[in-house]
Amino acid sequence: MQSYQGFEQGPIRPPSEASSLLLRVTRNCPWNRCTFCSVYKKQKFSLRPVADVIADIDAVHRFTTELHGSFDPRIELADHQLSPSEWSVFAAARNWLAEGMRSIFLQDADSLVIRPENLIAILSHIKMRFPQVERITSYARSESVARISDSQLAEIAASGLNRIHIGMETASDTILQMINKGASKETHITAGLKVKTAGIELSEYVLTGIGGREFSRDHAIETADALNHINPDFVRFRTLHLMDSVNLFAGSELYRYQWASDVDQAEEILLLLKGLYGITSRVRSDHSYNLLQEIDGDFPGDKVQLMATLQHFIDLPPQERTIFQVGKRTGHFVRMSDMDKPGRRKQVEEICSQSGITSENVDEQLHEMIQQRMKSGMPY
Ligand code: SF4
Repeated sequence: MQSYQGFEQGPIRPPSEASSLLLRVTRNCPWNRCTFCSVYKKQKFSLRPVADVIADIDAVHRFTTELHGSFDPRIELADHQLSPSEWSVFAAARNWLAEGMRSIFLQDADSLVIRPENLIAILSHIKMRFPQVERITSYARSESVARISDSQLAEIAASGLNRIHIGMETASDTILQMINKGASKETHITAGLKVKTAGIELSEYVLTGIGGREFSRDHAIETADALNHINPDFVRFRTLHLMDSVNLFAGSELYRYQWASDVDQAEEILLLLKGLYGITSRVRSDHSYNLLQEIDGDFPGDKVQLMATLQHFIDLPPQERTIFQVGKRTGHFVRMSDMDKPGRRKQVEEICSQSGITSENVDEQLHEMIQQRMKSGMPY
């Protein structure tokens, strides 16, 4: 068996975990076959030994204890007598201390795939070292959660895991099969209900545009229906941005993916929200890559207002809509109300005029711009 390789952190976390300590429990993704996802491609999945994760927790505990009371964010790594292997854990401990040490996110793609008793041992050690921690969360695949018994999930919850982030993407079985998600609508519902029954908070991620033009309606209707069954604590929208070279519907011999325009996607979200009934979820569009980040409200009270926001975008005169699309995608606007800021608006109008962007070609132009940015690894 390989000996401890030192403190590790994986590549990603949900935006809502920006203040959390990232603790790596597994490396990469045990499934790694979703056609739209490139995060862990070519990376081999492995479980980290429980003893290694515990060694990471102890190392963070040692540094946070040493720094506590004498914390000064101006102190740089170089000011401490650290070996190179200690730098990453020191930086993680220092940042977490600065954030108040209230939450921990277990990485990578699916911590629920490990044996429940091992996850419980890790959670118990976290609680012993950091009793003040209020939230311990993780990504999980529906497939993994659905395999865990209710009693084991209740034990996991009792040991401290109190939020799970699941990438539902869609609940359309047609699309799930074509994108090789490795889960069905039924699995998504079973897993979601299990999480809720265990008393763990549930965040479901929905990928807008995943059905393209052809399956947009199916995506909206089926996903709303699954969410109605589950009633997750959070529904979070993410927008699919994909390189044209990716064969999204690789699981189908019949269909080829046709990307959907911003208006098509707004109509898709509108249809989805319209189909949500009897739930009390917080619905959020909390990623900067999303066009309409103002989608943020609590169901059922805010349903009408959220739908009105989408309808407002759809009903904008084409030239106004173009200004907003370009302003949002170029980082000049965050919300539609930013169009009322004369300085920013003028800059966006200049971009449109210099680049020849009109309401007739805006979707193709933005699609091309995002393709170029993805190729060069720039944010978009
Ligand atoms: S399960 Fe998640 S991390 Fe794994 S390939 Fe699919 S989308 Fe990517």
